[in-house]
Amino acid sequence: MPDSPRSNFLADIIAADVAAGTYGGRVKTRFPPEPNGYPHIGHAQSICLNFGLAERFGGSANLRYDDTNPETESEEFAEALREAVTWLGFEPAEVRYASDYFEQLYDWAVELVDKGLAYVDSQDSEAIRAGRGTVTEPGTPSPFRDRPAAESLRLLGEMRRGEHPDGAHVLRARIDTEHGPMAHPNMKLRDPIMYRIRRDAHHYRRGTDWAIYPLYDWAHGQEDAIEGITHSVCTLEFDVNRPLYDWYLDAIGIPEPRNRQYEFARFNMDYTVMSKRVLRRLVEGGHVGGWDDPRMPTIAGLRRRGVRPQAVRRFFDDLGVTRVNGSVEVQQFDYAVRDDLNGVAPRVLAVTDPVPLTLTSLGAPRTVDAPLWPHDVTPPDGAPLSRPLALGAELWVERDDVHLDPPKGWRRLAPGASVRLRHGPVVTVTDIATDADGEITGITAAVEPDDASARGVIHWADRATAVPATFRLYEPLFTIPNPGDADDTVDVLNPDSLIEAQGWVEPYAAGAERDTRFQFERLGYFWPDADSADGALVFNRIVALRDSWSKRLAGTADEGPRSTTMRSGPSEPRPEPVVAERDPAAGLTESQRPRFDALVAAGVGPEEAAVVAGEATLDALHEAMTTAGADARDAAVLLVHDLRPALLAGDAATSQALAPGLGAALADVLALVEGGALARSAQGAVAQKLAADGGAADAAVQALGLGALGDADLTAAVDAALAEHPDEVARYRAGEARLLGFLMGQTMRRAGKGADARRVNELLRTRLADAP
Ligand code: ATP
Ligand code: MG
Repeated sequence: MPDSPRSNFLADIIAADVAAGTYGGRVKTRFPPEPNGYPHIGHAQSICLNFGLAERFGGSANLRYDDTNPETESEEFAEALREAVTWLGFEPAEVRYASDYFEQLYDWAVELVDKGLAYVDSQDSEAIRAGRGTVTEPGTPSPFRDRPAAESLRLLGEMRRGEHPDGAHVLRARIDTEHGPMAHPNMKLRDPIMYRIRRDAHHYRRGTDWAIYPLYDWAHGQEDAIEGITHSVCTLEFDVNRPLYDWYLDAIGIPEPRNRQYEFARFNMDYTVMSKRVLRRLVEGGHVGGWDDPRMPTIAGLRRRGVRPQAVRRFFDDLGVTRVNGSVEVQQFDYAVRDDLNGVAPRVLAVTDPVPLTLTSLGAPRTVDAPLWPHDVTPPDGAPLSRPLALGAELWVERDDVHLDPPKGWRRLAPGASVRLRHGPVVTVTDIATDADGEITGITAAVEPDDASARGVIHWADRATAVPATFRLYEPLFTIPNPGDADDTVDVLNPDSLIEAQGWVEPYAAGAERDTRFQFERLGYFWPDADSADGALVFNRIVALRDSWSKRLAGTADEGPRSTTMRSGPSEPRPEPVVAERDPAAGLTESQRPRFDALVAAGVGPEEAAVVAGEATLDALHEAMTTAGADARDAAVLLVHDLRPALLAGDAATSQALAPGLGAALADVLALVEGGALARSAQGAVAQKLAADGGAADAAVQALGLGALGDADLTAAVDAALAEHPDEVARYRAGEARLLGFLMGQTMRRAGKGADARRVNELLRTRLADAP
């Protein structure tokens, strides 16, 4: 498993919360899939992220089935998701089902109706859609918006019991803001639908108990709250949902510190589709062999193909997470797979497209003790180091290793050419036989003395002892890099994505443990497919070797010499750092680029720089802040992480955000933090107040009651916390260093809101270092 995962902004946020004791040091995440298909490699990222972050901070992670949609969900899919988590090496703290929360959600909905925060709307879906307005125009309130709560409650009860047909009514949140009803700039806040009727739907767990089903927004934050999630991460497109997530939590009265949503850029890879819906079509339309077809980007597909979970985890750890959407090249993933297999796959010989080779002067058949590992690979503990390899006069060689009229620099078989047989002698071709069509039917070669040398080396199989095998060679499933852009993904399926070949493997490969991954030298990494059986071996090519000769042969003949040196993988140079692949600035326009470059040059992190450069409001504020003396990096962090969410939520209108003086006031906020007068964790609240109400920084700090506490207050908090937890203190002093987080959390809770976590930490450490 990876030594130290790449740092990422989510880890930074969690680390800050742990240090500040926001949740008393607790970290809880969740992976919340909808069981409507098999998980794909994008889900693998989410699994690695959620479980990985929990693991890293000593927290825990739940697997939660977000099974609120009766139509498409099933137990089979739920099971596949569970298996994916386990296969990746993670253990959920709990396995939960959103459908178990239907009662609680319903009770909360009743509460909202009672409070005037929800109502039953009896308009049809067309009228509801029309009433929402557009991004540029406000909507119109429903004629049912002011329906008495008692009437809404009666209707809701009837809806729940199945007394109304689908579409007759919905339950909607009733959201009033300073923008007026149905006029919030964020359309998610225009009286979103909470429940819809699905009277005849059958839910795979709840049967027909429920005739109404909650919508995503009404379910998700509440599910997080029920499970005590601290950091709820989801993909970027949900950033506009975050204000609604928080609105619902406020409406049902979930107190702080509570679950918070953070967004990261979803994982994309070229030549791959990442949508369960599309993948399901491929399966149901018979375009692939099933969800676990080795060409599928599903976890089941990768697994059957032979990819190891270690490779997937390492890949995502190296990739990190960003806030800017991009796409990874499939070669990047292949690299991770090869890199993982290089150290665990013994090297053996196989021939996938055989042509007979006869040696005229070998003498008696020989058996050599052939090493299984190249010099630069340390074999795994206990692995065999070599195997006996028989070499007789009758062999098979690879058809592509023979050429009648070779290009310049050819180092393999050709008329008169000398070549070394891997683990065997050098041979010189004396004859190449062809049929009427010019197809090569056989080669004859003479064995050279032991000290002969040759520039090329080829693989082979011994006709007397080799075992027949089928090889499945996989190519990308799609013909274009962005299959998701096609009108119909089925139209861009690659008809040659699976090539089946009949050939031979040496006996050692035929007799090895079922789950051994091999490198068939010069061909790639392989392992037995699920279809493989004794006497009918089937090997999947997990991944080809870099610059595989088959790909080169597909190119033009005059591309120059083709190296036939034995490739073993380890000498393969590491590709460009993965981050380069996910250029944070990829989404910027030409005119925003220079600004991005300038920000990075000024020390701003690329993630933040991309966001600032891409949004005129933030860009102008950043400019104003630095003009007022703020550090470029700190300013960008404040704008992107503290202020932007509130701006998006519409808590402050854009015009106010641009009010003269706001930039300078925000610079003052940073100065207060720098000077120790304001806790770093409080800067967001102050920035948001300034954006909403204007005014000066210190006035806002006072108004919010956030002035940093002095050392005397903090020391008192430290002492109180230590006095109440003598056992933990003793254990910490005895060497249990991880208890510091716990004690820190206890202290922060006592110190209250304005406490500077860094100072508390110092004081706490000093106290703990004192003799008991
Ligand atoms: P799909 O469209 O494939 O069904 P989804 O997002 O609707 O994807 P869910 O089952 O709702 O699928 O997703 C479960 C979790 O996996 C969510 O938290 C989601 O953010 C995450 N996830 C899904 N796709 C990706 C991806 N490509 N990259 C990273 N995370 C992803
Ligand atoms: Mg979904």
